[in-house]
Amino acid sequence: INEIKNKQISVLGLGVTGLGIVRFLLSQNIKPIVVDSRTAPPGADWLNEHASELTTHFGDLEQADLASNDIIIISPGLSLATPAVAKAIDAGVEVIGDVELFARLTDKPIVAVTGSNGKSTVVTLAFEVLKAAGYKVGLGGNIGTAVLDLLSQDYDVYVLELSSFQLDTTHSLKAKSACVLNVSEDHLDRYPSYQAYIDSKQSIYNGSELAVVNAIDVATHTAKQPQVSFALANADFALVEHQGEQYFAAHGKPVLPASCLNVVGSHNQQNALAVMALLSPFDIAKEHYQQAFSAFTGLAHRCQFVAEINEVKYFNDSKATNVGATIAAIESLAGQAKQLVVIAGGDAKGADLDALKPYLNNKVKALVCFGKDAKALVALTEKGHLTTNMHEAVQLAKNLSCSGDIVLLAPACASIDMYNNYMQRGDDFAQCVLAEAV
Ligand code: ADP
Repeated sequence: INEIKNKQISVLGLGVTGLGIVRFLLSQNIKPIVVDSRTAPPGADWLNEHASELTTHFGDLEQADLASNDIIIISPGLSLATPAVAKAIDAGVEVIGDVELFARLTDKPIVAVTGSNGKSTVVTLAFEVLKAAGYKVGLGGNIGTAVLDLLSQDYDVYVLELSSFQLDTTHSLKAKSACVLNVSEDHLDRYPSYQAYIDSKQSIYNGSELAVVNAIDVATHTAKQPQVSFALANADFALVEHQGEQYFAAHGKPVLPASCLNVVGSHNQQNALAVMALLSPFDIAKEHYQQAFSAFTGLAHRCQFVAEINEVKYFNDSKATNVGATIAAIESLAGQAKQLVVIAGGDAKGADLDALKPYLNNKVKALVCFGKDAKALVALTEKGHLTTNMHEAVQLAKNLSCSGDIVLLAPACASIDMYNNYMQRGDDFAQCVLAEAV
């Protein structure tokens, strides 16, 4: 930390992450300049209470003289390509994220996870397994606690969920084990190409002691050694038949019956295998896996059961904010339903939606859409219906479904065109569904 004490530091972008950075710097007696393009960013009130310790610049970034800093600690919400930021980089300013600062400040083992889908599920499950095994574990990053806040406690090990945006500003991470779970198109509105997005994810392997790759997803593959792979079959961590039952296996040896995992879908079996691969350096007894796997009931807004009305079950997968996640949700629920009605729509972030077509054709009875890119979704299939909001979509889905069917909210899009976040969208869905129950 002494390395940065006498430097001019700006914290760019307020939000959960930005405020976490400011809090941490103040705790270290470092007084940053706080910059945000909004004239009244969230958290400004809290900052005002610390006005004597801080300089702030709210409004046009071009006026903030970013190039005069030694270091800019940037929020993942802001692109490095933002003109004022790009200019500062050109002028030689070091631009890093909070994860980079965290990585420089800790020497505890780190389990690091990225990927297009399943990150939160995998890190939460890994956290639970480590906890069951008696470790004091800090969980954070793109989930829950901002990483720098984790430093205030004395943890044995950290489990970090990292988005590609966070990885873009992280260079010193040396994870004990690191994994790119999978890669499917997402965030193409912020990357110049799909390859650039893949490269960003792959950077998690730099400096890691063990690379964990998804055997069936070449975009996760790396030359980095040593490495282990996971997949439903033909991988170091895979499913095998044992005594007439499916088992999670390590290097061909059955470890645990797959039935002990309490969440549905083959994507979650993959997530569990990824957890076993990631934690393989920790030598954890199978009882602890069993305990955590069977106690884990899944995260909110991820294929979450909402209600059953007229023998139709409603599931909220609002967190399916890209095509890959929606496909996983359709695959995991189609087998349990007589027929599946899917509600989708929102901001597709420039993604190619065509990959949905075979799933819509083969596994879905009707697709009900609303939001910014609803028309593009409806155009994928003859089963598409256009509506204007969640309430209408739920009503139509209800009318289109029969006994034994499932109605699934799995938008394949971000929620930002109509909601603050995916949680608010999922809550709206649940409310609209419950209103139909009375
Ligand atoms: P993330 O943190 O990467 O967004 P989550 O664990 O929150 O991932 O899951 C988001 C959504 O992605 C889930 O609702 C589910 O539909 C889908 N999903 C979860 N795991 C996988 C996986 N291994 N492969 C593909 N899709 C997945």
